[in-house]
Amino acid sequence: MNKEQARPGRPRPDIATLSAYVPGRSAAEVRRRYRVDEVVKLASNENPFGPSPRAVAAATAALAASNRYPDGGATALRARLAAVYHLAPANVIVGNGSDEIILLLALAYLRPGETAVMAAPPYAIHRSAVTIAGGVVAGVALADHVHDLDAMTAAVGADTKLVFVTNPHNPTGTHLDRDVLRRFAAHIPARTLLVVDEAYHDYVDDAVRHTARDLLGDYPNVVTLRTFSKAHGLAGLRAGYALAHKDVVGTLDRIRPPFDLNIAAQAAALAALDDEAHVRHVARENRAGRARLMAIARRHGLTTVPSETNFVLIQADASVTLTEALMARGVIVRPGENLGMPGWIRVSVGTNDDLDRFEEAMDDVL
Ligand code: PLP
Repeated sequence: MNKEQARPGRPRPDIATLSAYVPGRSAAEVRRRYRVDEVVKLASNENPFGPSPRAVAAATAALAASNRYPDGGATALRARLAAVYHLAPANVIVGNGSDEIILLLALAYLRPGETAVMAAPPYAIHRSAVTIAGGVVAGVALADHVHDLDAMTAAVGADTKLVFVTNPHNPTGTHLDRDVLRRFAAHIPARTLLVVDEAYHDYVDDAVRHTARDLLGDYPNVVTLRTFSKAHGLAGLRAGYALAHKDVVGTLDRIRPPFDLNIAAQAAALAALDDEAHVRHVARENRAGRARLMAIARRHGLTTVPSETNFVLIQADASVTLTEALMARGVIVRPGENLGMPGWIRVSVGTNDDLDRFEEAMDDVL
């Protein structure tokens, strides 16, 4: 058998050129590589304050029924979410993380060669989902780290089927006001879905927090994405959802893997919705941690981008060297190079102890 014959199968040529997603370094990897005992991970915008104990108890109890398939329609969770948002269950779809829903949207709404408009740099999964679907990414440069909605409006063409707005944005943490987003929605043609990814919604300050869910009545093409991975602290269980017109939900239901949300995730998500006090506690702690992160950066004379999320973008010309030096001291942060923001590092909010470690490492390095 020659080498050519030994190649197993033939992927689509456009898929063959993609690279696999590179997550932030794991704590175990950094422990091994740098021979440090205690590692603090501030690289993946996780919730360091943990999940609601009620969600953990519910997930644990659900495991006893692991021999059965989960409810494929996640009926109870959809009904509960519908009640929370004053919508019908037919307006709610849940997924194995919101990342799964993003992929389903791209697969369902883009024909090969059709366009999705998004910020540049975008949340990476918006871009990869479009590419996987064979679509074309029309990236519109951020203006001063904020979505340039005028330029995005201008970029929408006859073949644009999806527009992604991440509010607040990842990787910058910046937030768009209610009126600005509503005006933008008015400019998006009905044939195009406007997907507003609100993964960091619960971290936004009360005074400015708003949701694209409120646009749905006037603009049936608006899809609001949410996740249990951030303020609810359930990233490891994988649960996200979208609020959308029933036709959009029906479309995604047709192509969704039938049992995408496992029983533990469904039970935990339901219990998490009943523990609003936990989300408020997380948001409070996050606000304090975010202010401290910014203060540490400022003390070193480094610029930060105003953030309404659980991470802060900090300017650091030698960002790769700084990331390496911090990692050697057991602190994992994300170099902007991986996120389309060279010359910056993205640091997730940690507990006070985590931030002590970050502060010591920064003082040591700089
Ligand atoms: N959307 C944005 C903007 C994110 O930053 C993230 C995670 O970092 C996600 C979605 C992923 O959410 P999930 O864990 O529900 O897939």
